[in-house]
Amino acid sequence: MKITQITDKKVSLRRTIDTGTEDQRKIVQSIISTVRGEGDSALFSYTEKFDRVNLSNLKVTEEEFTAAYETLDEELVEIIREAAANIRAFHEKQKRESWISYDDNGTMLGQKITALDAVGVYVPGGTAAYPSSVLMNVIPAQVAGVKRIVITSPPNEQGTLPAGVLVAAKELGIAEIYKVGGAQAIAALAYGTETIAAVDKIMGPGNIFVALAKREVFGIVDIDMIAGPSEIVVLADETAKPNEIAADLLSQAEHDKNSSSILVTTSMKQAEEVKAEVKKQVETLPRKEIAKASVEAYGHIYVADDLETAIAVVNELAPEHLEVLTENPLASLNDIRHAGAIFLGRYSSEPVGDYFAGPNHVLPTNGTARFSSPLNVDDFMKKSSIISYSEKAFLNNYSKVAKLARLEGLEAHARAMEERLK
Ligand code: NAD
Repeated sequence: MKITQITDKKVSLRRTIDTGTEDQRKIVQSIISTVRGEGDSALFSYTEKFDRVNLSNLKVTEEEFTAAYETLDEELVEIIREAAANIRAFHEKQKRESWISYDDNGTMLGQKITALDAVGVYVPGGTAAYPSSVLMNVIPAQVAGVKRIVITSPPNEQGTLPAGVLVAAKELGIAEIYKVGGAQAIAALAYGTETIAAVDKIMGPGNIFVALAKREVFGIVDIDMIAGPSEIVVLADETAKPNEIAADLLSQAEHDKNSSSILVTTSMKQAEEVKAEVKKQVETLPRKEIAKASVEAYGHIYVADDLETAIAVVNELAPEHLEVLTENPLASLNDIRHAGAIFLGRYSSEPVGDYFAGPNHVLPTNGTARFSSPLNVDDFMKKSSIISYSEKAFLNNYSKVAKLARLEGLEAHARAMEERLK
């Protein structure tokens, strides 16, 4: 882990998005067009090819849900319920209502808010299981009022999905879960097959094939975002404990060898202690190979002269996750302008937000916190404008509208106004 004394504020995260190779793009395009042409039979054959399992049905059955509950510890089921309740309570606060306003002329203007009809949530498969992805994507959709929520996820070699994913989905009342992954799942959600009806928006992370497929179908359906590797920045002063900082940096490094973990501190002594701690702690992790590769490639410690400079560096980085481990974290909140989620104080270690506290863990990466927000209820709603002019409002304003129309050379627009005077 490199230590750099800040001399100017021009530090940066890697602002790169993996757009795949030409070959990968071609594979994805071919998978999408095959699924469009052949429907379910293409889903079965790609599942056999990529997931090495021969399925007889795509939809998860009641027996599979029952087996999942038998596998999972009752305590874990309770914890999933409690996390879900926290996430729901937080997102309920985000919900907006339609509104209408009136003026003295009898004009009525407003905004009608409507939930999307159908969304698809992609839950990645592979070696890990992601029940938290189920909770974080499905609950805001439910709070928004989306009626049809579909989950797809690649099956394991036993031809089913991880128990945690199934239990999380069942706890949320999701009935439609399909065992299909990769670009073929995205194609099915966008275009529909005999078994899987098309949706309007596709959410959720995945590998490069999933990300490229989401890019390809954007426009036919909406997508949430193309997420980059996970990032954490810890902002610390000399009061923070090096062992805790190191543990928190490693909690992101273990995600992916491309993840980045950065400390911005005002103390050189602490910087050196954190570096030593990271080196020591990483050796004890089950995913140490991934964490080590991540720390070596993208781990960094920046030492700033004062807190003001350190905060300027944080804003430049615009991280996905920011932990503020200073003597008075709240005092810095106003000056922090760019971060996906801000964790204040030593008891708000990042995993608290990843799993349990309530705010969404789907966050802007790659510096996009400069202009975008965590996944939220608005992502599942759309707005329609409402315009209703009274006769009085029309008579007061029709000539202004006609003049503006003629300024743009649109005579028929102007006449549409004047026709009403006859
Ligand atoms: P995945 O579900 O994303 O992809 C598995 C599918 O990829 C397979 O079913 C197959 O269809 C397809 N595939 C694999 N090899 C292929 C090939 N050669 N050609 C065509 N298709 C192929 O699961 P994964 O691969 O384990 O990746 C999970 C990803 O999700 C990781 O990159 C992980 O970092 C990411 N993730 C991100 C978050 C987040 O919040 N940002 C959360 C969880 C997981």
